Amino acid sequence: MVKSDPLLLSEYKPKSELIVERTTLTGPKFPVIDIHGHFGPLVLGPDYANRYDTLKEVDKLKKLGVRNITNLEVLWGDELKQLLDKVAPAGDFIITFGAVDLTRLDEPDFGDYVERTLTESKNMGIKGIKLWKNISLGMKDKNGQHVPIDDPRLQVIFKFSAKLDLPILIHIADPVAFFRPIDQNNERWEELQGNPDWSFYGPQFFSFEELMAQQENMLAQNPETTFIIAHGGSYSENLGYVAECLDKYSNMYIDIAARISEFGRQPYTSRKFFTRYQDRILFGTDSGPSWYNHPIYYEFLETWNEYFDYSSSKVPPQGRWKIYGIGLDDEVLEKVYNKNAVKLLKL
Ligand SMILES: [Zn+2]
Repeated sequence: MVKSDPLLLSEYKPKSELIVERTTLTGPKFPVIDIHGHFGPLVLGPDYANRYDTLKEVDKLKKLGVRNITNLEVLWGDELKQLLDKVAPAGDFIITFGAVDLTRLDEPDFGDYVERTLTESKNMGIKGIKLWKNISLGMKDKNGQHVPIDDPRLQVIFKFSAKLDLPILIHIADPVAFFRPIDQNNERWEELQGNPDWSFYGPQFFSFEELMAQQENMLAQNPETTFIIAHGGSYSENLGYVAECLDKYSNMYIDIAARISEFGRQPYTSRKFFTRYQDRILFGTDSGPSWYNHPIYYEFLETWNEYFDYSSSKVPPQGRWKIYGIGLDDEVLEKVYNKNAVKLLKL
């Protein structure tokens, strides 16, 4: 027997020898509404308008079985208008969300500003409000203090969105591993090694537990506001906790964007979770022009396939594991794919 040389983790790319039946899908079983897409500067950068052809993107998405996709951007005023013009050729296919300028948080007329801006944006055509993780994971006020997501100054946004009947899609935390030390015990060590700025470990940040407490306060204090908590309700590593929150707060919904690696590594728990909370879960991918990965989501939700890659990268980017399909029943699947979104977005 020959013992091989030590190997660097970065060079280790094992190929699975498992041979097992795998169902191939040609598309989703029901039309899909993707509640988590990006067609503006947030992901594509300031030059976004030159980076894609709107009608070509619509065509690609239709071929993937998508009937609508949202456009979650943190824009208002002229910049929102430019974005809406860019996606206008898509008609109602691309559904844009808007936001407010939070650098004005400490201005005495912030409340009036929020009401004016959101009213104006709704008149321009936005169907929801996007609040991004830059608030809870970095933003500071004029005194240099972090702004918790349950900060009283933000209440005007929550209250007024309810008045305008616009849901808020909010990204609050990141994977729990990003809040832990980057060491040999971190399950996402490789990802953090490649993206050290994704680490939120340390006293300069809110802890993950603090963020969850703030998230619950926000939900409890604003029962009239509809919140779609992005990325599996912020805590897809702990669906028992998310389930408790869904039980407590009837204004809480979640999307599954960028979290099939989490849902898919706990297929028994996930299947029960999706079935029990079938009215509260929305399909989403966190994709945009040139990186649509819908088929892997369809495979996860619809099939009983075992031990497959959640990404096309040789080293799985969100942890070194594989996933399993959860074979959802048609009734549940249709709600997750489109019915829940039709209801929340009033399509
Ligand atoms: Zn996103």
